[in-house]
Amino acid sequence: MTTHRAPLTNHHPDDSICPKEHRHTSSGKPLHPECPGRDYSQAICTCDAWQFKNSGKGYVDEERKRHLATHTSADRQGPAILRDLLRLDRR
Ligand SMILES: [Zn+2]
Ligand SMILES: [Zn+2]
Repeated sequence: MTTHRAPLTNHHPDDSICPKEHRHTSSGKPLHPECPGRDYSQAICTCDAWQFKNSGKGYVDEERKRHLATHTSADRQGPAILRDLLRLDRR
């Protein structure tokens, strides 16, 4: 059985990834000297048919879970592992 994942990533205004090491205060101010701040969060599903992007991290997480729930029943998609490997090369 194929399990899809839709990892959530945080991004800077220039689309680069804001890694976990970039900590922020509870009000969203960056604590890392090289971090311009989180501009938006994004989740892309390994099924390749879904992605979601919003400035609200919690909102993206919610939509992500909602979408993943649609995969838990009768999922006969193809080789998601291959897509995962291809995806590593992007960004
Ligand atoms: Zn950052
Ligand atoms: Zn999906």
